Formats: sequence, C-alpha cells, structure tokens
Amino acid sequence: MSVDGKKAASAAADLRARGVDAVALTFVDNSGITRVKGVPVGRLERAATVGVGASPSFDAFLLTDELATGRYAGGPVGDLRLRPDLDRVVPLAAQPGWAWAPVDRFDQLGRPHPQDARAILRREAEAFADRGLPALAGIEVEWTIYLAGAARTGGVPEPVATGPAYGMERVIEQSGYLRDLVRALTEQGVAVEQIHPEYAPGQFEVSTAPEDPLAAADTSVLVRQTVRAVGARHGLRTSFSPAVVAAGVGNGGHAHVSLRRAERADRRPAGAALADGTGPAGLSELGEHLVAGILAHLPGLLAVGAPSVASYLRLKPSRWAGAFACWGVENREAALRLVTGLAAGEQTPGAGLKPSAEQWSQASPHLEIKCFDLTANPYLALAGVLACGRSGIEEGARLPEPVDVDPATLPAAERDRRGIKALPGRLADSVAAFEADPVLRSVFGAELHDTIATVRRAEIEVFAAASADEIVERSLWRH
Ligand code: GLU
Ligand code: MG
Repeated sequence: MSVDGKKAASAAADLRARGVDAVALTFVDNSGITRVKGVPVGRLERAATVGVGASPSFDAFLLTDELATGRYAGGPVGDLRLRPDLDRVVPLAAQPGWAWAPVDRFDQLGRPHPQDARAILRREAEAFADRGLPALAGIEVEWTIYLAGAARTGGVPEPVATGPAYGMERVIEQSGYLRDLVRALTEQGVAVEQIHPEYAPGQFEVSTAPEDPLAAADTSVLVRQTVRAVGARHGLRTSFSPAVVAAGVGNGGHAHVSLRRAERADRRPAGAALADGTGPAGLSELGEHLVAGILAHLPGLLAVGAPSVASYLRLKPSRWAGAFACWGVENREAALRLVTGLAAGEQTPGAGLKPSAEQWSQASPHLEIKCFDLTANPYLALAGVLACGRSGIEEGARLPEPVDVDPATLPAAERDRRGIKALPGRLADSVAAFEADPVLRSVFGAELHDTIATVRRAEIEVFAAASADEIVERSLWRH
C-alpha cells in the first residue's frame, strides 16, 4: 500500500471510530464559492490515492453558477482528480457523521493542475520558508445572521441580533448560538482568538490564531462552513456577503500577514521579521519592503481580494473597509494597517506595561489588509499578497509616510501631495489593474491569470444592468 493509502486507511479508521460516515472534499473556485464532492468514509483511501473526478470547468464557474467561456477554462471536456489533504481532515462538529478535508487538484496523469489555487498558495508560502522567513497568516471572518424562514421568502430580510454595535445585548440574545460556535470551532482544532458582535445589525466576527498561510486559507473555509452549519442548527441563515445592504457597513474578510525568522543558527531565539523597531513605525527593513510591495500592487490585488461586483458596494471610505491605497499604524481607514499589538516607544509613567524591544517584536506586529472581503478565494488572495510582498523585498521597495488620519477627511489636494489614492471603485478597474500586473500574472501563471480575469469580466456582465439593491439581493447567499 502507498504512503498515502496507509495514511488514508488509518485516517478512515479513526473517523469511523468517531462516528463519521461521509467526508466532504472541498475546493474554492475562482468566484470564491466552496464547491464539494462527498465520499463515504470507506472511499477515503481511494480518494487519497486515485482521487475523485471533477470537471475542470469549475475554474470558470460564476457566483450565479453560470459558466464563463475562457481561453483556458470553461469547456465541457476533460477531468481532474481531487485528492484530500489528509493532514487537514477533521470531523465536523455541527454536521454529525460528516468530516471535511480540503483537496488538491491533479490531472489524470497525477500532475498538479496548473490552475489549482491551493497548490499556488503552497508554493508561495514555501518560497518564504525557503528563505528562512516563514510567513504567517490569518483571515478574519465577518458575517450577518437572519432567521432561516425569513431569509427564504425572497428580497433582503432584516437581520436578527440588531442590538447595539459590539453590544453585550447581542451576545445575550444569541448566547447559545455563539457558545455552540466556539465549541464547534474549538473541537475542530481551530484556535479561536476572539468572537464578538460587529458594527452592523446582525453582524458578528471570529478571528483565529496566525498559521502557515495554507493552513490559514483552509481554516477560513472551515470557519465559514462551521458558522453556517451551527447557524442552521439554531434556525439561522448566514450571509458572508460584502454588501448586506446597498449603502452601509458590510462584511470584511481582512487578511493578516507577518513573517518570522526561522530558527537561527546561533541558537538565539527566532523572532518576528516584519517589525524589529528600526524602520518606519518600527518596521524592519524587510518589513518595509514587504509592505511597500503589497501597497504598490493593491489595485490589481483587489481582483482576487475584493473580487465580486458586490465587493465595491462595501469598499467605501469611513466604514473601516480600507478604501484608500495607503498604510498607517493602527489606522482602520488605511487599506494596509500595521497592527503593533503593543505600543512601541517610551513607557508612560505608571502605565505598568513596558514592552522591551524583544517583547515588542514578539507581540505579533503584523500587517492587516483591510480592503479584502469573503468573496475572495482565500488561497488566491493570500498567494497574491505573498507574491507582491516578495517582489517588494526583491526590489527593495520603499514606503511613503504612514497616514495617521482617515484619508477621506483630507482635502483632495493633500491626498494627491501625499500620494494617497482611492482604491478602484468598481470591479472593472481592479480587473484592468490585475491584467496589467506582471507580478500577479507570474504568480498565477498565464492560464489562471487569464481565467480569473475571464470570470471577473463575466460577473461584471451578469450585473451590468443591476441596481445596487439587486446586486445585494443576488449576491447575499452565494458565498
Ligand atoms: N466590517 C468592516 C469591513 O467591512 C470591518 C470592521 C473592522 O474593522 O473589523 O471591513
Ligand atoms: Mg471586524
């Protein structure tokens, strides 16, 4: 028996002992939707070795389930093999009898599918690890809840849990649901860092501990499935859409990234590599290059980070969505927020908290990319971010001054002077930037780069005549 076969046989035995009958094997398509093939637990071994068939046309699916016709995707001919990542298989706490595993996609000769997003993120993460700078990442998940019945009658219903923003009232109202959610995530091995009501009515958020980027993308898929499944058991329906009303705060999917220094040869402790207190706002030289690389490519990156027509109803100034291409320290209106965790600098007398340089660098200063949302395929979004950061490092890219106000409050002339540009206000502009971006073309490869742009253009076409309200209504339950 092959190594994969042995591993799968033992995973299957373990799952059976835990009452699992079926395993959901998932991948995320280019429209950001998680698609699935299920297998009985007895077929897991076969799935891990031979794979499960799936059409390559999924690469060209739109959020409406229509198919785009791309140069490299969308035809009815051909087949791929889905193989579960057995290191990530886990019983689903809110779907008794089910387990889940993300898959890698191969062709019928066993070669990685060139348009497989998970393989591309794995490769990008390895590029950093190979330099002795392993990356860490996490994706914050925000969502809005509705009564299941109300949500099925059409139109856009009112959410439940409409108490004050960040208010305890919502936690009391949804106490059992939130407790079951924390329990389910924890049982599934997800390291929940925080759960809280968000700003908008019916909105909540979960954040999870930083992980290897591939694991972080998998976790964001698992978290969303779990939120939806726990909600269903509580009579709730969940929307992760960036726009739940035409004009108002939406659901973000902020990506967090940082770098570590791998174990050092001199046996001194490894530590954070993004921020060592020496550069602008405490960034390291390397950190500055990384952030500058991401900043320079943000308009094109939006085509994978804020990839839907609905994304641009959310991405507006003064909603903490990060609608301006700039960076700032703890600035929630900058697309790139440097999160320092602890205050750098002098101790306030009597404050009791005086981080040393070492503690500060280990307090997880990291970069938050606020302009992204959950219509993004998390594998593509993180791969794009890492590739742009890497290109910034290779070019020695430099940052402008950090922005310490809401850029929307600055006179336009001052924004111009400081080089602060509004991010694209519509998907078509992000796609144009994406198509013209050589770094993004190179990370995704010519075929996937073309397919992503094809899918975006087809979705733009689908909504060409739609009003904002129609975009909200038709996007609300898709992701
Ligand atoms: N809901 C906001 C968004 O659309 C984010 C709020 C926050 O800063 O977490 O991104
Ligand atoms: Mg939030």
